[in-house]
Amino acid sequence: MIRFKGISKAFGSLTVLDNLDLDIAPAEKVALIGPSGSGKSTLLRVLMTLERPDTGSIEIDGAPLWHMPGKGGAKNGGLVPADAGHLREMRKNVGMVFQQFNLFPHMTVLRNVTEAPVHVLGIGKDEAEARARDLLELVGLRDKLGHYPAQLSGGQQQRVAIARALAMRPRVMLFDEVTSALDPETVGEVLNVIRKLAEEHNLTMLMVTHQMGFAREFADRVCFFYQGRICEQGPPDQLFNHPREERTQAFLRAVL
Ligand code: ATP
Ligand code: MG
Repeated sequence: MIRFKGISKAFGSLTVLDNLDLDIAPAEKVALIGPSGSGKSTLLRVLMTLERPDTGSIEIDGAPLWHMPGKGGAKNGGLVPADAGHLREMRKNVGMVFQQFNLFPHMTVLRNVTEAPVHVLGIGKDEAEARARDLLELVGLRDKLGHYPAQLSGGQQQRVAIARALAMRPRVMLFDEVTSALDPETVGEVLNVIRKLAEEHNLTMLMVTHQMGFAREFADRVCFFYQGRICEQGPPDQLFNHPREERTQAFLRAVL
């Protein structure tokens, strides 16, 4: 269970997350939708500890990821991470895939997937490679082990990025517009991999997406973001077919 409680985050005078609460059940698939700048990526980034919230708390299975500083406070305000060792453990639970695949360009596909397990988790090279082969099989790239990222299509690179994130054995996967940089004809192959993961693996998934059709079919719950808050949320059928809030209706009219 992931629990965001009263999360706020500002960049200068711009409030990006505004006292946001969100609970996510184990293995739940949640789609985050909403206008540009409404805070969707920032929410994933604070869970990934890439961004520090100003207030509030985040817990994963009851263990705090960030907490309010004690007396004296943090130097530049805001929350402080749980202690370093604990934070390292917590980070292992969460994997993230970005719009830009960010593969290591000078490493083969296989090395891209084994690098972190070997150097961060300390898994032996043989074991890491065996696991990487399974994961590359899962994403349909078993025949590309020796290729370099530049030799792959966008959709193939994105599938390597998914395999690489999975290699850390996360329980939670975050996807931030993972198909937005792809040619239309390769979007489907990446969505199919995500579908397969959802069906065959017990992962909790949070996905920011502009693919409303996919959100409708894939998500257990859809959250509509507006100005740093969740303006409306519910099962896809309710949110897409019977949105209650005027802002949700206006957004869906514009994108559907
Ligand atoms: P999009 O759909 O365009 O990806 P989003 O909902 O993911 O939008 P965020 O990326 O969370 O939006 O950004 C929310 C706001 O915060 C935006 O106005 C953005 O410009 C601003 N912002 C994000 N990161 C930073 C940063 N590091 N410094 C300053 N402003 C930032
Ligand atoms: Mg974003």
